[in-house]
Amino acid sequence: MIDVDELQELLGPGAHPVHLALGGEQGTALPPLIDHHVHLHLTDETMLAAHGIAGVVDLGGDPVALAQRQDGMPRVAYAGAFLTAPGGYPTDRAWAPVATWREVRSASPAPGVPGGAATLVDEQAEFGASVIKVVLHADAGPVLDAGTLDAIVARAHERGLPVVAHVEGVGMARLAIEGGVDALAHTPFSELLDADLIERAAVAGQRWISTLDIHDGAARAQAAANVATFARAGGAVLYGTDLGNGPRAPGVDTAELHELHEAGVQGHALIATLTDPWPQAAAPSGVATFVPGLPPGAASEIPAWLAGARVVPREELVPRR
Ligand SMILES: [Zn+2]
Repeated sequence: MIDVDELQELLGPGAHPVHLALGGEQGTALPPLIDHHVHLHLTDETMLAAHGIAGVVDLGGDPVALAQRQDGMPRVAYAGAFLTAPGGYPTDRAWAPVATWREVRSASPAPGVPGGAATLVDEQAEFGASVIKVVLHADAGPVLDAGTLDAIVARAHERGLPVVAHVEGVGMARLAIEGGVDALAHTPFSELLDADLIERAAVAGQRWISTLDIHDGAARAQAAANVATFARAGGAVLYGTDLGNGPRAPGVDTAELHELHEAGVQGHALIATLTDPWPQAAAPSGVATFVPGLPPGAASEIPAWLAGARVVPREELVPRR
């Protein structure tokens, strides 16, 4: 017998023992799982649902191509183009075609100014973006100044859109936190941040998308230490893999989950990093996560257990008691 209270204490209130209506396979249902950092132009998303991912957030792509997509599985939310300084990252990168970025040439809050902050936010919004992506990369060319960043954040918020920043290089996390950026596309990895600054981010409600597993060496250790401090301060962590950046199997990435567990994001808090619908208000509808077999007996077993996750239509799940 599965004790539902124990199951939900470990996995959160969305967990339920179920069996499949067709075939009777037993397992556990969870809310739909989301990878909050992907690049669809660099990956094939057709395998994601079979490996547990029901929603993705594209954090940098061609807004025209993204707007022309058909609805399907996984559900796609997107930022549209990277907004960056003239000549800034990633304008010189082979993986970033010209359609995937915009150079912000003016801090102008007026709509319709060519290359203006408001104009470029408006463009992404009109192509259906549900979040605006800015690049603050101090080690790869020019960076947006604080005034231009302020103008982007102000215009995005006027339109009801959060802003997510790529921060890389010393001082860039501080620029994003002081600039009122709503989310970081990667846990800061270039430096060990002051606990005070991290607490400020947590208290402000900033979300950090994990992407711990893309690093090695010092960057990996710094990211792990920063996210541990952020989680202890009550900061909201979102699971994200930067799928498309380097070789990575599609679906739930157990290595990423293991890194988060080691950093202290455990049990139902770990599940919550996957089920937060950010930047959208609600989870993908009509589907749920099914994990076959016995539920995990302890928080440390959750990352490996989730390797079996797959997306199923909600009506295929029958409650088990
Ligand atoms: Zn990325």
